[in-house]
Amino acid sequence: MAAYTPMIQQYLSIKEGAKDAFLFFRLGDFYEMFFDDAILAARELEITLTGREGGGDERIPMCGIPYHSADGYIARLIEKGYKVAICEQVEDPSAAKGVVRREIIRTVTPGTVMETKSLADKANNFIVGVSIAGGGYGLAACDLTTGELYVTSVPLMLDVLTDELNVYHPAEIIGDEEVLTALQPVAAGWNRPVLFTPRQTMERQALESQFEREQLESLTEPRYRAISLLTGYLTETQKRSLGHVRRIRVYEPNQFMILDPFTRRNLELTETVRDRSKKGTLLWLLDKTRTSMGARLLRRWIDKPLLSKSGIDARLEAVDKLHRDLILRDDLRRELSEIYDLERLVGRVAFGSANGRDLNALKTSLQHVPALRAICESSGSATLRGLVADVDDCGDLADMIGTVIVDEPPISVREGGLIRAGYDDYLDQLRDASVSGKKWLADLERREREATGIKSLKIGYNKVFGYFLEVSKANLSMLPEGRYERKQTLANAERYVTPELKEKERLILEAEEKMVDLEYARFVELRDHLASHMHRLQRLAEMVAEIDVYQSMATVSSEQRFVRPEVTESYDLIVEDGRHPVVEAVMEGVPFIANGTALTDEAFAMLLITGPNMAGKSTYMRQVALICIMAQIGCFVPAKKAVVPLIDRIFTRIGAADDLIGGQSTFMVEMKDIQTMTEKATARSLVIIDELGRGTSTAEGMAIAQAVIEFVHTEVKCKALVSTHFHELAHLEDSLPRLANACMAVQENAGGVTFLRKLVPGAADSSYGIYCAQLAGLPESIISRAYMLLESLEQPAHDRHAAREVSPAHALEAAAAAEVPTSLMADSTRSVDLRPSPSMGAVAEFAATY
Ligand code: ADP
Repeated sequence: MAAYTPMIQQYLSIKEGAKDAFLFFRLGDFYEMFFDDAILAARELEITLTGREGGGDERIPMCGIPYHSADGYIARLIEKGYKVAICEQVEDPSAAKGVVRREIIRTVTPGTVMETKSLADKANNFIVGVSIAGGGYGLAACDLTTGELYVTSVPLMLDVLTDELNVYHPAEIIGDEEVLTALQPVAAGWNRPVLFTPRQTMERQALESQFEREQLESLTEPRYRAISLLTGYLTETQKRSLGHVRRIRVYEPNQFMILDPFTRRNLELTETVRDRSKKGTLLWLLDKTRTSMGARLLRRWIDKPLLSKSGIDARLEAVDKLHRDLILRDDLRRELSEIYDLERLVGRVAFGSANGRDLNALKTSLQHVPALRAICESSGSATLRGLVADVDDCGDLADMIGTVIVDEPPISVREGGLIRAGYDDYLDQLRDASVSGKKWLADLERREREATGIKSLKIGYNKVFGYFLEVSKANLSMLPEGRYERKQTLANAERYVTPELKEKERLILEAEEKMVDLEYARFVELRDHLASHMHRLQRLAEMVAEIDVYQSMATVSSEQRFVRPEVTESYDLIVEDGRHPVVEAVMEGVPFIANGTALTDEAFAMLLITGPNMAGKSTYMRQVALICIMAQIGCFVPAKKAVVPLIDRIFTRIGAADDLIGGQSTFMVEMKDIQTMTEKATARSLVIIDELGRGTSTAEGMAIAQAVIEFVHTEVKCKALVSTHFHELAHLEDSLPRLANACMAVQENAGGVTFLRKLVPGAADSSYGIYCAQLAGLPESIISRAYMLLESLEQPAHDRHAAREVSPAHALEAAAAAEVPTSLMADSTRSVDLRPSPSMGAVAEFAATY
C-alpha cells in the first residue's frame, strides 16, 4: 500500500469501510471507481474502463461518471441489486493541505434509495428488518421515502413469516443471519430481487434517539430486536437523522385477513399470474386514485383486508356517500389531482434532498387542502368528516414557502435564483450590487464601442479569465495601441481587460458568490423549519391518501355497478348475481354471466363443482374469493346483493403452470399446500381448491380428493368451493350433509356444446369432456370411440348414481320451468331427502339460491 499515491491510499482506506458496495469516489466533477469496482462497474454500466498511474507497479483500473448524471447510474446499479457508497470531498480543495479529506456521506441500497429515478410512484419501497428472539420472528418494515414504519411479530414458523413479508414486497432484508438463511430460498421465487444483509448488533443508541421511549418500551422482544437491527442499518448507511421515521405502527398479523403468497398471486390481487404485471389485477381495476400516495395506500389495503366489522363499515360508509354523489366525487377528484405526492415530498424534506421545486410542489398541494377538507365536511359522511376533523391544513407552512421561494426555482439549490426578492435585506443588497455591476458592464460596452468605433466589440465572461473585452481580428487595426491589457488570443479575436473592469468583476463575483451562499443558507433554513413540522405534514398526507382511496373505490363501484355489501359477523356468505370484477371488466362484446353464492351453516357450506374445462369453474371460485376480499377492504362488490361474513383467511389451491418449483411435482406442491390448509384453516376461513387430486393416478387422486373433502367438511367446517375432474365424487353429497354438488351448465345442441357459464345444482354429465374434444376438432372416429369407452367405463358408477345425476342443461330448464311453492323452497334440503330423484322442487330450490 505504501507505494500508492496518497490519494489512492485514501481511496483504499475508505473502501475498507464499504466492501460490499461500489465506492463512488468524488474527484472534481466526477465520481471515480478504481480496481475491481471499476472493472465491474464498467461492465454493469457499459462505460469505458481506463487506467491511471497510482504509484503501484501497474496502472490502476479506473472508470468514472460525471457527478451531475450520477442519479441515473446509481439507479441502474441499485436495480441490479448492488449498493453504492457515495464518497464526497468534505473540505474545500483550495484550503486543503495535501489530499482533500473525503468521507462516505451515504450508502444507497435497494431498500434505501430516495432518488426518484429508482422508484415506482405507485408502489412503496420497503426495507425490512427481521429478527429471531423471544420465541418468535420479529419484522420491521420501513419505507424511507415516506417514513412509514410497520412492526409486528409472528410465531416461529417460516411460512407465517413469509406470508407477512410478502405483503411488503421488500427490496432489501436485513437482520439475523439465521432468518436470512432460511428466507433466501423462499425469496428466490419472488418477483423482484431482494438484497440480504446479515446484521447482528442492536443499536440501542440509534433507536433511542429516533423513537420515543414509550413506543419502544411497549415492544415485545422480537419486535424490539427487528426494529433495532433495522434502525442501526439505516443510520449507518444514511448517516443522517431520519426525522420522518418517528412513528412505529405496531400491528398484530391477526388484525387482518391472512392471504398466503400463492393465494395473493392466484387471485391476481396486485400482479397477474402470467406476467406479474399490474394490468388485469384487482388493484388495476380498483385504482382510480388521483395521487401516488392514494395508489400506494390502496395497494396496502388490498394486501391487508380488515377483520373488524366496525373498521370495514366505516370505510364502506365513506364509499357509499361518495358513490351516491357524483358531484361530490368529481369535486374531490379535481382537488386531489392538484396534490402532489406529499408523503415523498415530506420524506425528501426530512432527508435533506428536497429542492426548490419540491417545496413549491408541497406549497401547491397544501393550498388545495382547505377545499378538500370542505368537501369532506359537507359530504355527509361521518367517516370523511372524522378524518378531516383534527388534521390541520398546514396553511402556515404553505404561506411560508410562498414568501421565501420564487415561483419557478431552478433544480439546483446551490446556484442561486431560489429566494424571492424582499425576503432578505442583505440578499436584496447583494442582488442590487450584482445588477448594477452588470449594468455598468453594459454601459462600458457601449462607451468603448463609441470610443473605438468598433461596433462588434463586446464584453464576455468565462470561468478562467473572468470578464473581458473582445475584439475580432478584423477590427484590431481600429484599436488604439495600449488602450487595454491583452489577456487571451483566439483564432479570430483578441481578449482584453482593464484595471477598472477587473475591479468591477471582483465586486460582481463576490456579490454573486455571497448571494449563492446566502440563498442556499436561507433555503436550508426553510427546509429545516418544514422538517420540524414533519409530524403535521405526515398526518395530512395520510389523510389525503385515505380520501383518495375512498374516492377511487366509489368511482369504480359506480362505473362497474358494484353494490354495498352487508358485512356480518355470522357464518353465511350470500351473494346474489355475483360477478368476477376483473374478467367482467376485460370482456369485450360478450356479457358476463352472473352467478349467485350461498354458503351457509344451515344448508351447504361446501360446493363440489364439476364440469368440463373452460366452463367457468375457476372464474366462479375466484369471483367468490374476490367478493370477500373487496368487502373486507371496504369496497363495494360486483353483485346485485351481498351478505359477506368476516373471513379470517382465504386459502386457494388453484393449479397453475408455474407450480413446478425446484423439481417438485405438481402433486407434491398440491399436497404441501393442502397440508398447510389443514393446519391453518378455521371455520371462519374460505377454502378454494381447483381440480383437486389432479396430477396423480385416478384412483389415488380420487381417494385423496375424497379424504380432503371429508376433512374440510367435517373437521374444518369452513366455507369451501372445490372443483374436480372426478365426477365419481358426486356421491359424497349423500354422506356429507353440508356439501352440495354443483356444475357449470352446458347446453347441448346439434353442433356441439355451448358453455352457459351458469352455476346449477347437480353433478355434471361427464361426457362433456368429449364434447370439448369434438369442439377442438378431433377426428370423428376418435370421438365416437371415446363415447363407447365412456359408456362402458361409467356403467357401474352411473347405475349407482343415475338417479342423482342431473344434466346441467336439463337442470336449467327444470329450474326455469318449475313453479315451486315458496314453502317448499324454504324447506331444508337436509330434512327431506330429495336426492333419489331429481325432483323439480330440489332443483328449483337450489337454482333459486344460485
Ligand atoms: P374452467 O375453470 O372451468 O376451466 P374458466 O373459469 O377458466 O373455466 O373459464 C374459462 C373462460 O370462460 C374464462 O376465461 C372467461 O373468459 C369465460 N368465463 C368464465 N366464467 C364466465 C362467466 N360467468 N361469464 C362469461 N364468461 C365467463
